[in-house]
Amino acid sequence: MHNAFRLLALSLACFAAACSGSRSALPAGSGTQPRVVSAGSEARVHLAAELHRLGLEEGRSYEMLKSLLREAPGRLSGSPMAEKAVDWAQRTMQSIGLVNIRRQPCMVPVWERGEVERLELIEGEKRSQLPILALGGSIGTPAGGLDGELIVVRSFDELRTLGRKHCEGKIVLFNRPMPRALRSTFVAYSQTVPQRVSGAAEAAKLGAKAVVVRSMTTLVDDLPHTGVMRYQDGVPKIPAVAIATRAAAQLAARIKKGEKLRLHLELNCRSLPDRRSYNVIGEIAGSKHPEQIVLVGGHLDSWDICEGAHDDGAGVVHALEACRLILAAGLRPKCTIRCVLFMNEENGLRGAHAYDREHVGDKHLAAIESDRGGYSPLGFTTSLRGPALDWAQNLAAALRAYDMGAMIQGGGGADISPLKKRGVPVFGLATISHRYFDMHHSRRDKLEAVNPRELALGAVAVAYLAQVLSEEAGRR
Ligand SMILES: [Zn+2]
Repeated sequence: MHNAFRLLALSLACFAAACSGSRSALPAGSGTQPRVVSAGSEARVHLAAELHRLGLEEGRSYEMLKSLLREAPGRLSGSPMAEKAVDWAQRTMQSIGLVNIRRQPCMVPVWERGEVERLELIEGEKRSQLPILALGGSIGTPAGGLDGELIVVRSFDELRTLGRKHCEGKIVLFNRPMPRALRSTFVAYSQTVPQRVSGAAEAAKLGAKAVVVRSMTTLVDDLPHTGVMRYQDGVPKIPAVAIATRAAAQLAARIKKGEKLRLHLELNCRSLPDRRSYNVIGEIAGSKHPEQIVLVGGHLDSWDICEGAHDDGAGVVHALEACRLILAAGLRPKCTIRCVLFMNEENGLRGAHAYDREHVGDKHLAAIESDRGGYSPLGFTTSLRGPALDWAQNLAAALRAYDMGAMIQGGGGADISPLKKRGVPVFGLATISHRYFDMHHSRRDKLEAVNPRELALGAVAVAYLAQVLSEEAGRR
């Protein structure tokens, strides 16, 4: 089947190249009505206007999000809340009028935070509590906790330079801040997050007894941000927590001055055997090529300590509302638009892999994911390059009138990364990212952090792109 997908991707790319050959220059800047740039572009201008009007005047994004968060906040994979989210998704798809609605089983990891989560700085008789959250997947400490001297590093290289002599029996603080001066906070995150994901394994190789990781945020404050961590085969498992950035900076400053600090860590988080959970799938059947699919998706699961409003309640709502808008506008897409709400993006991607395995024979024309929050959309990132990227930029041009027509070379999203590997063109909704990591994986990720208008615009952008991709492919 691999070759079939290569062919599909190639034909889309060739088609794109052919389209791009006939266009004139794209309108510069934004905030103006795009000029006619190629055959079909006038229709796309009208389409964008109609979806924009419907999304803002009669949109249901925010009320949909509110209902998901009320029913299933903290929907970590394998938890009862995640199962409530599955029920909610199925019901919501029915109410929107999607067809072929189904649950797609996948086995997901089960991790429970437990009730005890304590990191203390020991200074003689005095013990001060530090703001932490256990990282998802961490083992607990022995009952009664563990004590250790603190050492601070900023990188794996620095850790290895210290070597076993300085790491053995210690608690290691990874204190590398997210770089602030990068334009995209997602790029800053990708450069820093390895210390959270692999810090415990790297420190354990040198005999450390626990790790504390600086939270992944550009803010300096007192709120810890959790996230997934992974152990490595053959390497001892040690507990891992995230600490708020201000506390991390203060500990590091004292160590730098030459102080010796001792910490006490106590956790009773644990992993349980995998459980069955589900992706939820529904469709708008294609009117001309129902066997050809444009996927729109987000992930149903979230971290346990937050409502999961931006991550990824917003993406779930974008995918659902995009389908609803297409139906509400009376459109009949030529290809099938398939809404896939994935389970277990946060700590395993099991839903993404289950989908990929079971739909390996399907003809995916493209896949669009929203997993960058409900902030103002900028446009999309895409795996397309060269002439195909030009073509996609042309397709998105009608969104420029609403300041969301960017089409930037990049990825799609974690859940559609298996499709990307097989050559399916992927798109990710791009948002203004300045505030994303203020709330990401923390208690701040709740409904109040979402602006209804910004959320609605994301759904408009996804609806538009899904519809035009379906129409373009349907012309062949
Ligand atoms: Zn996410």
